[in-house]
Amino acid sequence: MTNQYYDVIFAGAGVMGCAIATHLLQRDNQLKIALIEKDLTYRYSSTVLSDGNSRVQFNVKENIQMSLYALEVLKTFAEDMTVAGEVPDVAFRQQGNLFLTDEAGRAEVEAGLALQQSLGCNVSWLTPSEAKEIYPLLNVADGLFVGATFGRDDGTMLPQAVLEAYKKKAVALGAELIEAEVTAVHHQNGQVTGVQLKSGEVLQAGIVVNSAGAWGTQLAKTCGVEIPMEPVMRQVYIVETAVQPEKVLPLLLLPSGTYIIHEGHGVFMTAHSFADDPITTTDFSWQRHKFEDRIWPELAEFMPAFDSLRVVDGWAGLYAVNTFDGNAILGEWPELRGFYLVNGFSGHGFQQCHAVGRYLAECILGQPPTLDLSIFSPRRILENAPVFENKQKII
Ligand SMILES: Cc1cc2nc3c(=O)[nH]c(=O)nc-3n(C[C@H](O)[C@H](O)[C@H](O)COP(=O)(O)OP(=O)(O)OC[C@H]3O[C@@H](n4cnc5c(N)ncnc54)[C@H](O)[C@@H]3O)c2cc1C
Repeated sequence: MTNQYYDVIFAGAGVMGCAIATHLLQRDNQLKIALIEKDLTYRYSSTVLSDGNSRVQFNVKENIQMSLYALEVLKTFAEDMTVAGEVPDVAFRQQGNLFLTDEAGRAEVEAGLALQQSLGCNVSWLTPSEAKEIYPLLNVADGLFVGATFGRDDGTMLPQAVLEAYKKKAVALGAELIEAEVTAVHHQNGQVTGVQLKSGEVLQAGIVVNSAGAWGTQLAKTCGVEIPMEPVMRQVYIVETAVQPEKVLPLLLLPSGTYIIHEGHGVFMTAHSFADDPITTTDFSWQRHKFEDRIWPELAEFMPAFDSLRVVDGWAGLYAVNTFDGNAILGEWPELRGFYLVNGFSGHGFQQCHAVGRYLAECILGQPPTLDLSIFSPRRILENAPVFENKQKII
């Protein structure tokens, strides 16, 4: 470490910290920025354990706009993020997202669809038989769903490649990447003054960004800030089936919230967020029986060909669940100057990193936002004004 004073310190260098740092330095390359990451292997970081899916199928306008911006960014991402001739390849695969709905969810889905279409999203309504044309494995005989929305531009990519690209770009632009754990955020007279590391060392800064992902609740507590956010363990399973689709199928979301992503040939990735998923920051074990008992029967009902399959792998990662309203918490905490939150993404943050990166950089620099995301301001927590996405469970 060459410098003890920074303009901005990031506690956590996942995709959020790195994207914001990149946007800051692209606007002002004189800034002294420290990206502090406790584990540069990123073994437990949510970004690398995520499914890497991006969708425009949201119900809150700003969430849709963030995903539309992501689509724009991804068009030139490789070129824009090239560092010293190294061109990142995030393998963006726009296989589309097919979201099935039952009668109970239909009105909400239709309202979301109308909003998405009004914003220019490439999403349309499909009848069950039209959905089956796109997803031939579906059982349409038993009335399990009344229709579907198909987002043709949605897709999946390699989240770690996006993270690495932003990290390398931020470092190339001048950010200092430090492997260390932040143990406390220091403040005085209502103003952030820096951070303490596990080594005991203190780094000074007038701005500290809580980019610690699912560990952010704990970090915020060290400066007296209570964020309504819980780290919740989510399990993902890889299954091998006997089906051999001719081409890659869209991501399929069932009305219950179970989703399944075709990886190619007979291999699929699947998951479901259960109300009793454990709250933890240390347990990353996954249990095959949870899939077998609680997900498999439903998959086989919707897709009879899944009656026979094999679980070949799995993992657990953490959702930073915003228990207040399930949406991002973005911006300066109103009661502590210089303490910026980028938290609570509740399982849909990866796709938002580009828009959040730009927005937080603009907030920190006091610039007018290109896309106003103040609807997600932390102030709404203090004012008890939640922003709910929808009633239905969604990825
Ligand atoms: C199973 C799963 C599937 C998902 N699928 C999707 C998806 O398809 N699409 C989507 O948009 N989102 C998805 N998400 C959500 C997405 O992964 C997150 O919203 C996003 O990656 C959050 O990025 P982050 O930088 O805030 O967090 P992280 O990637 O977790 O980064 C935070 C970093 O902070 C570090 N850190 C923590 N505490 C400290 C400290 N005290 N000092 C220093 N460093 C610290 C951590 O080591 C970590 O590297 C999924 C998440 C999971 C778990």
